[in-house]
Amino acid sequence: MSRIIVITSGKGGVGKTTCTANLGMALAQRGRQVVLVDADFGLRNLDLLLGLENRIVYTAVEVIAGECRLEQALVRDKREPRVTLLPAAQNRTKDAINSEQMTQLIEKLAASGYDYIIIDCPAGIETGFKNAIAAASEAAIVTTPEIAAVRDADRVVGLLEASNIKKINLIVNRLKPAMVEANDMMSVQDVQEILAIPLMGVIPDDECVIVSTNKGEPVVLSANSSLPKAAFANIAGRLEGEKVDFLELKEPNEGFLARIKRLFWK
Ligand code: ADP
Ligand code: MG
Repeated sequence: MSRIIVITSGKGGVGKTTCTANLGMALAQRGRQVVLVDADFGLRNLDLLLGLENRIVYTAVEVIAGECRLEQALVRDKREPRVTLLPAAQNRTKDAINSEQMTQLIEKLAASGYDYIIIDCPAGIETGFKNAIAAASEAAIVTTPEIAAVRDADRVVGLLEASNIKKINLIVNRLKPAMVEANDMMSVQDVQEILAIPLMGVIPDDECVIVSTNKGEPVVLSANSSLPKAAFANIAGRLEGEKVDFLELKEPNEGFLARIKRLFWK
């Protein structure tokens, strides 16, 4: 059975698409078959982050309109063939698709035997958000450690729960340890206390993520090791049930650096 996970946040620009691309790649590197669904109709960019933009012929909208078969719209990554993209339309509005149609698409993908269907959700809590979560059974909430993002995330947790999505995990993205240390940024613990959902991972703010975005090569695929790359691999592990003891983060005598290292590398 496919696990159907929506990557969502409420606020825009916090790293949903980055997480979708890298988590998909990290799961594929563990041998899983993964399809990434771009549910950000009108403002798609998952294809860009994956470097697959030039290979798109059809999108989910043509599949729904019956203008092509689902298989014709799917784009398989050449670097990591276990990853496939179902692109969103670029030039149509979010109203090009409704929740029932989205659910039908996802059900078709589920019947194709993917281990993971990961849905990249648009910002906001309107139609696009509702479509993106319609078929999901799990959610990963991405937030940066900023009050506006956390408040939006909190709102989204409530909406997901109301939609009967019970498995909701937290990804804190763009953490700046030095700012946390200086009390200028919320800590992971602060964020987690507010949202009260299980922590699945922490990704540091790192220029290499921006470079990878511009190159169309997710950090997870890069030959260079980096903290974000390790963080995404860790999240994939946790998603698959590998145990990570976050409680150790709170040990009072642990040095700050050791704590951060533990946070990222474990
Ligand atoms: P969203 O899909 O939530 O709108 P994106 O994934 O498109 O957000 O990310 C928005 C921007 O933030 C992109 O330019 C991306 O490169 C940058 N970004 C995301 N995560 C990180 C990170 N951990 N470190 C540095 N930049 C990041
Ligand atoms: Mg996005």
